[in-house]
Amino acid sequence: MNGLQTLVLNADYRPLSYHPLSLWTWKDAISALLLERVNLVESYDSVVRSPSVEYKVPSVVALKRYVTFNGRPAFTRYNIYLRDDFSCQYCGDRFVAKELTFDHVMPRSRGGLTEWSNVVAACSPCNLYKANRTPIEADMPLIQDALEPSVRRLNQAARRVPPSDVHHSWLDYLYWDSELLL
Ligand SMILES: [Zn+2]
Repeated sequence: MNGLQTLVLNADYRPLSYHPLSLWTWKDAISALLLERVNLVESYDSVVRSPSVEYKVPSVVALKRYVTFNGRPAFTRYNIYLRDDFSCQYCGDRFVAKELTFDHVMPRSRGGLTEWSNVVAACSPCNLYKANRTPIEADMPLIQDALEPSVRRLNQAARRVPPSDVHHSWLDYLYWDSELLL
């Protein structure tokens, strides 16, 4: 039971975040319930007992107060793939994450920075072919400009990519706005 996790929804019953999926340990979820910060939405069959009370272990909880995010997205390889819709920004083909690489549009060896505006998803053949050249030199224009995405846009993209290993009680809250993928 120690490995059980609780899906955390915002007050609108959408996950707080899709990637990484917003999860708490069940102990944190029970603490938040006792502090009346969250509503219980779904439970596991497991029960925890204190001397006087017993609780079903929560599998889904929802915050009582809506949380908004105005921060900037983390600059990670996975978030670059999300922004670029898992497609090579040179040939346009889609890939699974493990088949993608990331490419410095202006090569690093020529002063290109590792930042949102200069790093894009690329398949290995395109990456190798482009090598140490700019898109103009290689005649490989970008499909779309590389820009820093909003957290909201990344969340929308992540919603289309189901994580593995989700509990069945979470499914109703994960993919309600897209075709069911599982
Ligand atoms: Zn490609």
